[in-house]
Amino acid sequence: MRAVTFQGPGEVRVEERPEPRLEHPDEAIIAVEASGVCGSDLHIYHGRVPVEPGTVIGHEYVGTVLAVGDAVTRVAVGDRVLGCFHVACGSCTACLRGDYHRCERGRTFGHGSNLGSLPGTQAEQALVPFADVVLRKVPNGMAAETALFAGDVMGTGYHAVAHAGMKAGDTVCVLGLGPVGLCAVQAAVAGGAAHVFAVDSVAQRLDQAARFGATPVHLTEGNPKAEVRGASGGRGADVVVEAVGTPAAIEAAIGLARNAGTVSGVGVQVGRAELNIGLAWLKGLDLRLGLANVIAHVDRVLALLDAGKLDPSPLVSHRMRLDDAVEAYAIYDRREALKIILTP
Ligand SMILES: [Zn+2]
Ligand SMILES: [Zn+2]
Repeated sequence: MRAVTFQGPGEVRVEERPEPRLEHPDEAIIAVEASGVCGSDLHIYHGRVPVEPGTVIGHEYVGTVLAVGDAVTRVAVGDRVLGCFHVACGSCTACLRGDYHRCERGRTFGHGSNLGSLPGTQAEQALVPFADVVLRKVPNGMAAETALFAGDVMGTGYHAVAHAGMKAGDTVCVLGLGPVGLCAVQAAVAGGAAHVFAVDSVAQRLDQAARFGATPVHLTEGNPKAEVRGASGGRGADVVVEAVGTPAAIEAAIGLARNAGTVSGVGVQVGRAELNIGLAWLKGLDLRLGLANVIAHVDRVLALLDAGKLDPSPLVSHRMRLDDAVEAYAIYDRREALKIILTP
């Protein structure tokens, strides 16, 4: 089968790889119908997230089940399914608490040996461990390019809002309008936020957030703090979603949140940082950080997609063939694409 492999910084290749084979009774093999190229694939492409040369990459996918192990009961051969970007066992202590994102046997597709050596999904076929926990049937009539958002980008946008405990009537501010931030805007609107402010410095992204129902605020030409306070009786945002992944964005989020509000950081953070932690303490903020628990949310996200209350389709800017992955990564690297869908 053909698969997209990482070769070195700035270099991917479409290569022939052996088809996967079932090795454990909880696994499934799927014929991939569509796979997405994600911002975290770009971290790998740039070498910021190290993976071994030759690693098959990609972690967003929709496909048809080709084979299942004896222990798989929730999906069957022939089912059209989508999957989550990481796998979880469903039976360890973390999973029994619902913390699937911290599963003791968790592995992430297409991220090399650091995250469990699970081959990626930008390929003609993919092996899915713990298939009953990780896979869901695609609702009838849903496009592959919509469904694949549930297992990663929309799941993360939804998590950013749900994990913050947002309630209907809250004022929400989203910092960073990449695909995850724009999905968080949709999730906040769908969840009944009274006001959603969307902050970025790219005009097209601000326009898209406005079409999703947010009030766009330019990061430097506008005044996010004044806008948020103006809409909240001077208090600040109940929930601030940070979808940038820099310490400066966390610091800005601390400034925008109301007293006893919540900062929900889903942007990837690395290393140490200097923050105004005293301000966070004085405000009594909840700081909620980390990888999204997409398995915990995937059924609700699918229900909202199926009902049309979440619709990521405007984010899909490019539809390309798997064989054109080299060009797809180059386009994405030049920031000319918001979301690229690859089909084998
Ligand atoms: Zn992703
Ligand atoms: Zn587990």
